[in-house]
Amino acid sequence: MKEYIIEVKNLFKTYEGKRVVDDVSFFVKKGEIFGLLGPNGAGKTTIIKILTTLVKPDKGEVYINGFDLFKEPQKIKKIIGVVPQENNLDRDLTVYENLFIYGLLHKVKDLKRRIEEMLKFVELWERKDSLVSTLSGGMQRRLVIARAFLPDPSILFLDEPTVGLDPQIRRFIWEIIRKAKTKGKTILLTTHYIEEAENLCERVSIIHRGKLLAIGTPCELKERIGRFVVEHINGDGRLIQWICKTKEEAYQLMQEKKIPFSVRPINLEDVFINLTGRRIEE
Ligand code: ADP
Repeated sequence: MKEYIIEVKNLFKTYEGKRVVDDVSFFVKKGEIFGLLGPNGAGKTTIIKILTTLVKPDKGEVYINGFDLFKEPQKIKKIIGVVPQENNLDRDLTVYENLFIYGLLHKVKDLKRRIEEMLKFVELWERKDSLVSTLSGGMQRRLVIARAFLPDPSILFLDEPTVGLDPQIRRFIWEIIRKAKTKGKTILLTTHYIEEAENLCERVSIIHRGKLLAIGTPCELKERIGRFVVEHINGDGRLIQWICKTKEEAYQLMQEKKIPFSVRPINLEDVFINLTGRRIEE
């Protein structure tokens, strides 16, 4: 059996003369939670749209579960679920009706049982008869996730699954995604939240201006540049930072400089700044 369930090789996409996906290659292992981390406009949604057959790239190779995306898109559509960035639900129908119609369109077997199972999975069973228009943003997001899972896909693509949601709901959605992994699903998600990439993703690819700059586990990506960040606010209020390999190195540096400082563990934002010279949420 192949180790990689998603293989992307040398993918390119240009919009209006601007390269928005620029020679992107990466692989996703079966059963892993893989994240594309980058700021708005980096090209994440375009990559997801290409992999889910909605947008044609200019060049490149994509294999999903061994199927060639360009030759066998129908086979791929049958094994993937997609959670787009917008909650594209029918707001005038109930929670149950939204899933029922989607299930009929996708010929889901044993549909009623499956709807119950999925609504319980995202903890919305109690709201099955509510109109979608009466649900909070977080509930609508959970419903879109339940809908994507309804046909029991083996791979799930989520585009910014927690954007705009408050931290508590964000964590609840992470739990749903982790539970999906324990059921053997492969998850590819995009995010511009550092915390989401660090806490949820087993491997992360950092993307900026259409290019993948680094791939690895959050730990590996951080260890490549250091372990601790020493911070000092200078006289005109500017934050100055030094990256150190060890705590000892950090304290030694500060003893030499003789200035007030704080030391904290490195995070993926520091990795992003190190690679691009800018902050991710700018
Ligand atoms: P992200 O998901 O990382 O925010 P996108 O993939 O949505 O990034 O966008 C990458 C770039 O491509 C942006 O500059 C965006 O404006 C541009 N873009 C995306 N879709 C289109 C389109 N249909 N037509 C023209 N430009 C587009």
